[in-house]
Amino acid sequence: MSEPFAKCSEANPQIAALNTLRQVFGYESFRGPQEAIIQQLLAGGDALVIMPTGGGKSLCYQIPALLREGCAIVVSPLIALMQDQVEALEQLGVRAAYLNSTLSPEASNAIETAWLNDQLDLLYVAPERLLQPRMLELLEQLTPALFAIDEAHCVSQWGHDFREDYLLLSTLHERFPAVPRIALTATADGRTRQEIAQRLKLEDAEHFIASFDRPNISYRIALKDNPRSQLLRFLRDEQQNNAGIVYCLSRKRVEETARWLQTQGFNALPYHAGLPAHTREEHQRQFLRNDGVIIVATIAFGMGIDKPDVRFVAHLDLPKTVEAYYQETGRAGRDGEPADAWLVYGLQDVIMLRQMLQQSQGTDRHKQEEQHRLNAMLGLCEITTCRRQTLLGYFGETLPEPCGNCDNCLNPVETWDGTEAAQMALSAVYRTGQRFGVNHLIDVLRGTENDKIFQNDHHHLPTFGVGQALDAKRWRSVFRQLVARGYLSVDMARFGALVLQHSAREVLRGEVTVALRQDPKTRRGNQTTKTVLPEHIDIALWEALRDCRRRLAEDQGIPPYIVFHDRTLQEICSLRPKTIEEFAAISGVGERKCAKYAEAFLAVVAQVE
Ligand code: ADP
Ligand code: ZN
Repeated sequence: MSEPFAKCSEANPQIAALNTLRQVFGYESFRGPQEAIIQQLLAGGDALVIMPTGGGKSLCYQIPALLREGCAIVVSPLIALMQDQVEALEQLGVRAAYLNSTLSPEASNAIETAWLNDQLDLLYVAPERLLQPRMLELLEQLTPALFAIDEAHCVSQWGHDFREDYLLLSTLHERFPAVPRIALTATADGRTRQEIAQRLKLEDAEHFIASFDRPNISYRIALKDNPRSQLLRFLRDEQQNNAGIVYCLSRKRVEETARWLQTQGFNALPYHAGLPAHTREEHQRQFLRNDGVIIVATIAFGMGIDKPDVRFVAHLDLPKTVEAYYQETGRAGRDGEPADAWLVYGLQDVIMLRQMLQQSQGTDRHKQEEQHRLNAMLGLCEITTCRRQTLLGYFGETLPEPCGNCDNCLNPVETWDGTEAAQMALSAVYRTGQRFGVNHLIDVLRGTENDKIFQNDHHHLPTFGVGQALDAKRWRSVFRQLVARGYLSVDMARFGALVLQHSAREVLRGEVTVALRQDPKTRRGNQTTKTVLPEHIDIALWEALRDCRRRLAEDQGIPPYIVFHDRTLQEICSLRPKTIEEFAAISGVGERKCAKYAEAFLAVVAQVE
């Protein structure tokens, strides 16, 4: 256990908070609503905090925990996260521990004793543990500095992370009315927010809602044409040696893709619910502890992964909803450094997802809602304007200007007037009785003479051959966009037959014009290479610093990012500190880390000249 920091004697809470930020964490200033939240807790008030992943939620309760009397209790549902946080705090010299089912009775007792002797600043506890009689007894005795309820959306029965134990946390308020409470979540949707406030009795708490924008993430959505070579190009050209996640829809595809990436020389590991628990743990461990590991996963992977330096999230299959897309891509770039969200999709994805949806359990109403959500996701894929504006709009936020950091902003999409083509396509669907799939419809439009055409007598239709001006690829694009915009739907019961939707009438009657995306002919070759490294950085020094970090981390059995984040190494690279004072001034270097690591890193800087 580390020596305690002297409780800050500064009487002015603003100055005390800022001093702690600088001294303990080594950061210069607060971000977004952090300061206001900390002041709210220091004044004894409650807070409900909605902040995106990577927004800096932990500091909001860690600093008050250090400044208020007593030990702060942090409720957290995920054992891996607790361990991570405690390791990170210990590195800073903060006295932190956790109590959960992984501990032996002796270890638990030792922690209790430390707590009783006022030797803890923060104690992380699993929710079911908190409400055990023994724990409540201790809490009565040792008034906590505050209660922090992390991942607070776990109280929501609508979400997929619902935890029965979380419901009981509402009693904290009645039992300990004088202890400030802070609930934190990254879940953006309004219904969940309300539910959290109501279930945790935080209606009177001050609500702090940070912007959900993640400006460092660059969004890119492309058409699937040869997904493997598209992915390969992305990884080779832009993500050399970077850690990232590749999401696939099925376990089979996860395994195939991981194996294939391995043959291409990547350190790629599969992760899905069908793998034995020890394999999953091992793969997750490697992802956290080693540099440059790619995890290929189903959505089972991610919750509870706090790795700050994930540089990209790639989707080889279309996510089912915008929420899922945002949550999954949000795992990139928690450290605020540039990161990429990359997705390829095609009509086949839409057909597959609709099929899964129709075969799923659940009421018709539920299916209809899911259908709606899938349509919104498709809309996001097909838009020709700024992706970030649409994404944020989806979560009720307005971004006044296009972002300049998404594919549509960086490479504006050309559109063409597809009204006439849309009319032809829709009328081909109508004339053939809404019983055929895309390929046959394209044959009709292009006047292709084959058996299926003759068997169905389609060469006599008025639409036969009217669409020869466009090639098959272009027609595919037209149909895909008509489906994405809800003019057509795919009937899975009839092998992917396209069916007219109500809104198609407006197009057929010429009441609306249809602007369609011009699909790029070839992939853009001159994408700016995005890596964390600024151009001018000395690669030899950078690698030497990473080596040093890896060694120090291995010695202590912790992930490298807990020693220092990339951002800190980068600053070392560009500032080349020569003295302890210069080293201490670098962002992310607090007092303890300076004492512990200055020597090793200064030696590296001195060596690599
Ligand atoms: P969240 O829990 O909201 O996902 P974290 O609390 O893990 O986010 O913070 C994300 C990263 O940002 C961490 O590496 C953290 O150290 C860093 N960070 C938080 N607040 C600040 C700040 N005021 N200045 C610089 N870095 C910060
Ligand atoms: Zn944009």
